[in-house]
Amino acid sequence: MSSTTLITTPSISTTNYASLSPPSQSTTTTTTTTTKHRHPPPTDGLAFLIDKSKTTHQLLQIHASLIRRGLDHHPILNFKLQRSYSSLGRLDYSVALFERTHNPNVFFYTATIHSHAMNNLHEQAFHYYVQMLTQGIEPNEFTFSAILKSCPLKPGKTLHSQALKFGFDSNTYVRTALVDVYARGGDVACAQQLFDTMPEKSLVSLTAMITCYAKHGDVGNARLLFDEMLERDVVCWNVIIDGYAQHGRPNEALGLFRQMLSAKVKPNEVTLVSVLSACGQLGALESGRWVHSYIDNNGVQLNVHLGTALVDMYSKCGGLEEARLVFDKMKYKDVIAWNSMIFGYAMHGFSQDALQLFSSMCRMGLRPTDITFIGVLSACANAGLISEGWGFFHSMKDEYKIEPKIEHHGCMVNLLGRAGHLQEAYELVKKMKIDPDPILWGTLLGACRLHGNVGLGEEIVEFLVGRNLATSGTYILLSNIYAAVGNWDGVARMRTMMKDNGVWKEPGCSSIEVNNRVHEFLAGDSKHPKCKEIYMMLEEMNGWLKAHGYTPATETVLHDIRESEKGRSLEVHSEKLAIAFGLISTQPGTTIKIVKNLRVCSDCHAVTKLISRITGRKIVVRDRNRFHHFVNGSCSCGDYW
Ligand code: ZN
Ligand code: ZN
Repeated sequence: MSSTTLITTPSISTTNYASLSPPSQSTTTTTTTTTKHRHPPPTDGLAFLIDKSKTTHQLLQIHASLIRRGLDHHPILNFKLQRSYSSLGRLDYSVALFERTHNPNVFFYTATIHSHAMNNLHEQAFHYYVQMLTQGIEPNEFTFSAILKSCPLKPGKTLHSQALKFGFDSNTYVRTALVDVYARGGDVACAQQLFDTMPEKSLVSLTAMITCYAKHGDVGNARLLFDEMLERDVVCWNVIIDGYAQHGRPNEALGLFRQMLSAKVKPNEVTLVSVLSACGQLGALESGRWVHSYIDNNGVQLNVHLGTALVDMYSKCGGLEEARLVFDKMKYKDVIAWNSMIFGYAMHGFSQDALQLFSSMCRMGLRPTDITFIGVLSACANAGLISEGWGFFHSMKDEYKIEPKIEHHGCMVNLLGRAGHLQEAYELVKKMKIDPDPILWGTLLGACRLHGNVGLGEEIVEFLVGRNLATSGTYILLSNIYAAVGNWDGVARMRTMMKDNGVWKEPGCSSIEVNNRVHEFLAGDSKHPKCKEIYMMLEEMNGWLKAHGYTPATETVLHDIRESEKGRSLEVHSEKLAIAFGLISTQPGTTIKIVKNLRVCSDCHAVTKLISRITGRKIVVRDRNRFHHFVNGSCSCGDYW
């Protein structure tokens, strides 16, 4: 969940209105001023009743009684009715009332502008603004903050010049709303300029600006502002934590969460959802468990958002049973909650459980979404269930009227490709209505490598190069296909092509959580404080492997270099560093849990299997695609990943 939902630009809300002078005191209309005195006190009680109304039905009853008493044109009552209808979602009644109001003043106009803006009806809001000016009624600061609310950039600019003209542009509320308009519209420079020249920077404007940076991915600048803040409420903490969590920096998100707790700021549901997402990305099970116990111990209600975030965190951290416990405990489960659990099972290779859950969900009358089908199809792919896969793929469109997207095609290509139905997979890709992306081509090429099908691999790469669709991954995959069949000329050719095209390879990165801290390793990393011990452990591991007669699986290496060098270049894959660190920093018998950003290579896979047997440790690796549970020399994926 995005925390932006919590950021409210100060605008004319109910409380703002309450603090305003009554509408009848407007200087622009005289009729209302006189009407005020014609109506004695009983209206106070009616006004109170209107404010307390919780349903449209109640409001309608009061409205009817106002008509009976001839009070429906009373300025205050009329104004309050309009506002209440709109906040109860009956904009139509509110508009009807406004249209029947005689000589509406600035407050009536602002109320109706506010109602339309809140309902994202900007053109209508703008229409009333223009009508108001035409009637010779001048806007006030509340009119501007109301109309700027969620206003798009282009009309926002027009309103900016209007605010300047009427002298409200430096009003804190109006300025904050303007910062928000420019920030949301992507004009960060203007947003910043307006913010920098603000006479008085409120907490809300600071938060708006931090949100502006953090949502545009500029976490660095958001952090600078955040660090400058003297006073930080839970909303600013949420924005910065979520900014880090959503932009691939989950470790920083966790660090800030710890700081937030030390600063004695009480986290709310939004904070906890962001933090759980960070834990899930990092595979930080201990930290995730801690957040769970925080929720339990602090009486935080386990609603559907938090429950789903916990299920997601546990399944991503390898705690599938705990995920299921939370899932079963959730009183209300929406389709997103079911999707998380189905994904959890699919990711861990428990395909039957995923499919069973899907059936239960449908039996309960919940309609699967396109996301549900990604989970279901990946479950089929992981278990090689071809006919079931096709069945679900076709039912998407036929039964549920969901057009399969690129991800669904990806699952099918994965399923068919791995099972060796390469031609069928290629045909599916060629028949797609949407353009296949590099990931999809990569999946197909990966299948060609798995089955040593050089011909189809070359055909695909030729097709991609011809259409300018080749990426670093394309060359690496074709190179791997050549390597798998021992075609070293092909490998060398690919290497030259990669060099000529300046393509690069995403660096492998693995993380492991030890004592509530997440340690990250890049391939060949030597930055860790315990680097020396880690490499000593690696040496020891190599000794064990040699003693067990293991020789590195060199066919996965790109280059046609001498055998010994190939062996060495495999020694430092990031997951091996993480495993070595896990071995030296945890008690014997402790399960080692690693999260890897790329797909695990066949050498690391074989090595991890052996290490699990030699050390008697369970090793769980989450790679880009799925979970591998290594126990006593074998892996839960059945060497099929
Ligand atoms: Zn590897
Ligand atoms: Zn495996």
